[in-house]
Order: sequence, then structure tokens, then C-alpha cells
Amino acid sequence: MEKKVILISIDGMRPDGFLQCGNPFIGKMMETSSYTLEGKTVFPSVTLPCHTSLFHSVPPERHCTTTNTYIAPVHPITGLFEQIKHAGGVSAMYYGWEPLRDVSRPGSLVFSEYIHSYSAEATDGILTDRALERIRSDRPDFVFLYMVETDEKGGHDHGWMTAEYLNCVNAAIDNVRRVWEEFGEEYTVVVTADHGGHARSHGTSMKEDMTIPMFYMGKDFPKGRILADTTILDIAPTVAKVMGIAIPHEWEGKAMI
Ligand SMILES: [Zn+2]
Repeated sequence: MEKKVILISIDGMRPDGFLQCGNPFIGKMMETSSYTLEGKTVFPSVTLPCHTSLFHSVPPERHCTTTNTYIAPVHPITGLFEQIKHAGGVSAMYYGWEPLRDVSRPGSLVFSEYIHSYSAEATDGILTDRALERIRSDRPDFVFLYMVETDEKGGHDHGWMTAEYLNCVNAAIDNVRRVWEEFGEEYTVVVTADHGGHARSHGTSMKEDMTIPMFYMGKDFPKGRILADTTILDIAPTVAKVMGIAIPHEWEGKAMI
């Protein structure tokens, strides 16, 4: 495929967490992307339901996964990974939270690696290393890199917007920088969160839980443009459009280009 995409999801990254994390690359991200700091996720604001919505472009009441346990939908929907496979594309996934394996159906991935987030320090950095190695060697058409330390080691262990949480966001943004600096010319890089958080949890309909930042960095996206009225459901159709593959009719989001 001519047009390739790297999608990075930073679990539990609030827009104000992004702005206050202290990483100098945040300015570059806003300058070089079409973006929003007021994107909406779906309810419940929980990791697996939100990512299932991200990859299938429908709300949880349609895909049936309403907790962190995967439920096969009564009427299946083709997800982004499956759609890329049908189009002849090669996908790779790097992730630090095992239940996320269910965002793709078996047989859709060519490369995949899971590392438990408490098996080492800075596992998001290790996953980023692995993803970069794979991109260098195989140039997959679509790469999904999922970072969980912000949510687990930041938000749940210490509290959203604490110094520990902001350090985790800072580290995640540094991983984004490494990916973008090496492959930002060749790939469109999309960065999102799945949900926010408050106190030491999330899952409610509160603004702090439901508001997410989203960044689209690539040739199809005007630099510094602020996107209005966009949700997590818009990511899959936007990625499909960038890659030049068909958008399934069940998908409810809208492409941002
Ligand atoms: Zn969480």
C-alpha cells in the first residue's frame, strides 16, 4: 500500500495532562497536525469498550463490549484491522495490556507483541523500540502502538494529574516524538487517547473522563488546524481514507479528510 499509518493510543491521557506534561514536543505536535483537545470518547469511558469503538467506528451499544471483557457482537462489524487485511495490507500491533488483543479478529495481524506493563520499567518505551525495529525491517502498512503506563502506573496508581501521572504522559509523548522523527515523513501518524480520568479512576460520563485529545500528522492534514466536533468513532474511517481502503457501511464515524 502506498499510504501507511501509525496509530498511537495513550491510555487515559487527558488534554490538560497533555498540555501540562512538560514535554517540549507537545508544541510541535500541535503545530504539525490537525488536532483537537476537545474530542469525545464513548460511554462507558473504559479501555476495551473505547478501543473497540475506535476500531469499529460504532458505540458500545452496537459492538456489545461494555466492560473490559470482550463480548462478540450479535451482528458482527468489520473492524479496521480486518478491513486493512481484506485490502491486502499488512498490520502490526504493539501493546501493554493483554485484553486489547480482542480489538482485532484472529488472522488479521502479521506482527504483534504484548509486554505486561509491570514486567519492567518503561514498558511503553520498550514497545516503542519493538515497533520501530519492525517498521525499519518490514514497513507494515498499519502499525498500532498502545501505551498503558499513563493509565496504570500514573492514573490508577497515583491519581490523574498527579506528578507521577504527568511523568508518564511526558514519557509517552517522548515515544511519540521518536516515532514521528523517524517515520513522520513516510507514515501518517495519528495520536489519540481512549478516555481521560479523575481521582484514581474513570468510566463515568464526567467531562474529565470523556474528553480526549486527537492528533493527525501527515500530508492529508493541514498543519495547526483545530478539528471541531470529532469523536473516537472518526478515527477508523479517517485512517481508512488516508490508506485508500473502503469504509464499511456499518461504521458511524466520519472521515476527517
Ligand atoms: Zn484505566
